[in-house]
Amino acid sequence: MVGGGPAGLTFARVLHRHGHPVTVLERDPGPEARPPGGTLDLQEGLGQRALDKAGLLPEFRALSRPEGQAMRILDPDGTVLRDWRPRPDDRANPEIDRGQLRDLLLDTLDVQWGRGVTHVVPGARDGVLVHFADGRQEALDLVIGADGAWSRVRPAVSSVAPHYTGVTYVETSLDDVDTRHPDLARLVGDGSMAVYGVNRALVAQRNSGGHVKVYAQFRAPLDWHADLDLTDAEAVRSSLLALFDGWAAPVLDLLRHGSAFVHRPLYVLPVSHTWTHVSGVTLLGDAAHLMPPLGAGANLAMLEGAELAESLATGPGDPDETVRAFEGQMWARAGRWAKMTTAGLERLVSPDPTAALALFDQVQPS
Ligand SMILES: Cc1cc2nc3c(=O)[nH]c(=O)nc-3n(C[C@H](O)[C@H](O)[C@H](O)COP(=O)(O)OP(=O)(O)OC[C@H]3O[C@@H](n4cnc5c(N)ncnc54)[C@H](O)[C@@H]3O)c2cc1C
Repeated sequence: MVGGGPAGLTFARVLHRHGHPVTVLERDPGPEARPPGGTLDLQEGLGQRALDKAGLLPEFRALSRPEGQAMRILDPDGTVLRDWRPRPDDRANPEIDRGQLRDLLLDTLDVQWGRGVTHVVPGARDGVLVHFADGRQEALDLVIGADGAWSRVRPAVSSVAPHYTGVTYVETSLDDVDTRHPDLARLVGDGSMAVYGVNRALVAQRNSGGHVKVYAQFRAPLDWHADLDLTDAEAVRSSLLALFDGWAAPVLDLLRHGSAFVHRPLYVLPVSHTWTHVSGVTLLGDAAHLMPPLGAGANLAMLEGAELAESLATGPGDPDETVRAFEGQMWARAGRWAKMTTAGLERLVSPDPTAALALFDQVQPS
């Protein structure tokens, strides 16, 4: 297994539960090597189903935040347009911090940290040859690439590379909001708050421990920052404040009080990305079907990890046939989600801000 993200760790956990040892080869030097990222909503039929297969649903329920499903939508002038809160017993899409999910999955798994893969070569005499950044190489029977958007395993099965969507996110965050920024804590509420304007949006999401992540989202060419030093937080802040000029002051305070800014141009793979089956190599999660980040990527990655592990552990016969059957199932489901999330991104960061509101009304239970 190459990659210790949601796909790789869920695969390893489920295989481990069935009594099979598995090694996760992870590029990061350790679990705390970089900030784990924001919050994820895990859907009942996807991410939660995967955790159930891993035997981790009770632990997830204890850690997750059902109240985090709350969603508030504002006009750029600050008017509240929608203020949806889940029922107390609603467990459809509870939120969990990525770091908490990673620790839950990691537990006692055998992860080899600092083992970045550079490329893999199928069809070698001893199996699939895996080349590492430190110059070593190893022959394995089955290599599963769960190494994310810029997968180094993908070229072994597909020549397709991700392309830019035309939408960029710039992420910032606020700590300890309830005591340091109580007005912003109230504005964001228990879950997410979104403001939609013309070709731009500002979304804030509450994480655990009073941490809030803020995403400035806008349509722009890939080189929009050509005259900007992205490592200069004050310069990025000024540029974003200019981009959102005229929006209500409390909304812009989310940018004024944000700490570091992280540049995230959104890349995707084609909606129906498939490949001709290659014996001994497959892909899971973002490596297989990178799509706009609208609540599906980690969910799919986890369910795929769980399903492939379960099929390999319990299915009869040839593992290669098991992988081939799994790929067909993964492509069909991921294709549907890629189509939905691509259409969703068009409406959420759109020339017509009412498209975002209409999408919310369509998908949100009343
Ligand atoms: C801002 C944002 C918000 C999102 N919100 C949600 C959400 O609410 N719900 C949701 O379902 N999805 C969400 N997503 C999408 C989600 O983050 C991804 O779909 C998910 O992380 C994919 O999991 P993965 O395991 O396939 O890949 P990744 O999470 O990218 O994990 C890949 C792992 O492989 C390792 N790796 C990379 N290259 C190598 C290499 N060469 N050798 C060895 N290891 C390597 C990486 O270090 C990493 O640990 C969001 C994405 C973004 C950007």
